[in-house]
Amino acid sequence: MTDDEDPLRFKEATRLVLVGRHPARDFGFVNPPVYHGSTVLSRNVAELLGHTGRYAYGRRGTPTSEALEEGVSLLEGGAGTVLCPSGLSACSVALLSCLSAGDHVLVPDSVYRPVRTFCDGVLKRAGVTTTYYDPMLGAGITEHVRSETRALYLEAPGSQSFEVQDVPALVAVARERGLVTLMDNTWATPLLFAPHAFGIDLSIMAGTKYLGGHSDLMLGTVSALPGAWPALKRTHGDMGLCVGPDDIALGLRGLRTLGLRLRQHEASALAVARWLAGRPEVGTVLHPAFEDCPGHAHWKRDFKGSSGLFSVVLRPVPDERVAAFLDSLALFGLGFSWGGFESLAIPFDCRAYRTATRWSPRGPAVRFHIGLEAVEDLIADLEQGIAKLTG
Ligand SMILES: *Cc1c(COP(=O)(O)O)cnc(C)c1O
Repeated sequence: MTDDEDPLRFKEATRLVLVGRHPARDFGFVNPPVYHGSTVLSRNVAELLGHTGRYAYGRRGTPTSEALEEGVSLLEGGAGTVLCPSGLSACSVALLSCLSAGDHVLVPDSVYRPVRTFCDGVLKRAGVTTTYYDPMLGAGITEHVRSETRALYLEAPGSQSFEVQDVPALVAVARERGLVTLMDNTWATPLLFAPHAFGIDLSIMAGTKYLGGHSDLMLGTVSALPGAWPALKRTHGDMGLCVGPDDIALGLRGLRTLGLRLRQHEASALAVARWLAGRPEVGTVLHPAFEDCPGHAHWKRDFKGSSGLFSVVLRPVPDERVAAFLDSLALFGLGFSWGGFESLAIPFDCRAYRTATRWSPRGPAVRFHIGLEAVEDLIADLEQGIAKLTG
């Protein structure tokens, strides 16, 4: 094996194995070395002052960070990638890279809630105004575009409520009106949806979720098309964002099995969602592959598959019944985040914070993440628990 195999020559499964690795350069070791470092020594004053060395300072990049950046850039098809200490910091640096005082940004009402908090807090104080829009808007988004609108943010499917946006229609308007487009693609990862191929300028992923895949690290990535790359790189550098080398190594390890894990999460989640859909206690299954899910047709047209996260709206029961159901589960942990090997469940209610659309489910809602356990065990667990909803 040589170091100059171009991963893009190969199919996706092979690419996941090859990207970001240079064994010949690394004394034959299969994985890139984990460099712990701040200071980088120059050979002489000319190199120090001329900034001509390969590396300058730990914060500005190491062979370890470059390996993951290179891997993510190849998978995303972007001009460059920055690594961030969390998914949320990836969202916030992407927004800051394209917005200035006086600008206006459009954000879907179904956005990951901490991004809303960032827009209403930090961005507002910086003189940027935000309008939340109905995530199901397509070409109609044009009515919200003002002369000072600078960026259009997307997230599909929506956090918790799973609306799948019409990405091509939104990008078409953004192109026509000269807006920078950003998309939080955490649910699909570039394996199931490729934002850059749809013309999205900044593709964001909470690497904490499926890239890491083992619930043991915090990580975010932003990949950019060439036009958006210089501002992203500069803003990321100015903010001093970087990720510890051990967490980067965990991200690289996760990358190798990402395709394999996603296929299992998909198959198991579909099986569990189908079982739930057949239960009398369940009203609606909000899973992009199900017809009841808003934007199902967009998912079918644009996505290559689905991952392990979905929600259900239960038939009306008191909240205590939902708590009794979830408390009785042996295999589903009660906890935030997702994307690891373990199954999770949380009750949620979007009514508290939506501003542009009304979230009016007919009953209480629960979000599930389906892990890598045996589907039969998960369904048996749900079956004993779901009885607590009515009994
Ligand atoms: C979890 C999540 C984030 C934030 O990631 P952290 O690593 O937890 O900061 C951002 N966007 C989406 C859609 C998420 O699910």
